[in-house]
Amino acid sequence: MAILPIIQPDNPVLRKKAHRVQSFDGKFQKLVDDMYETLMDAPGVGLAAPQVAVSQRVILVRLPDDEDSRNEYGKEAGMLHVVANPEIVKASKEIVEGVEACLSIPGYYGTVDRHEKIAIKGLDRYGEPVRIKAHGWLARVFQHEIDHLDGQLYIDIAKDVWRATREDEDEEHEEI
Ligand code: ZN
Repeated sequence: MAILPIIQPDNPVLRKKAHRVQSFDGKFQKLVDDMYETLMDAPGVGLAAPQVAVSQRVILVRLPDDEDSRNEYGKEAGMLHVVANPEIVKASKEIVEGVEACLSIPGYYGTVDRHEKIAIKGLDRYGEPVRIKAHGWLARVFQHEIDHLDGQLYIDIAKDVWRATREDEDEEHEEI
């Protein structure tokens, strides 16, 4: 496995609509493994392939395996989701505001409206169908990552964006 460089908006791949995953071959498995290592190293809670300069529709999402996550999300804490060609098939009318950051835009935060609950369908790393229901923070991470596949960044839709301060660091907002 290898830690891949995470690109920033000066690299045009981050702004392109990514291609659907067609082949779940060894090369794709290596990409998923490398993305996992990159996500854990960052550390972050989500990573989309365009962030490592690969224009393919695959995302990794993993909430931290800590006490807060376990209390709020149960078995979702520490569970790795790999979703190829993800699509949001249901979204709650309820919209919630929350703070986001992005591994591709280090040092900034923003306030973004997201659906409180969503249902996603897609394929797992072996090409088998998966469906995932998510709420709260997990739903937010999925929406942020799926936006990356269409070249959209949270700063495009944020109500406000600010440079990280010491207080932000202390609050330990997770980078996604
Ligand atoms: Zn991001």
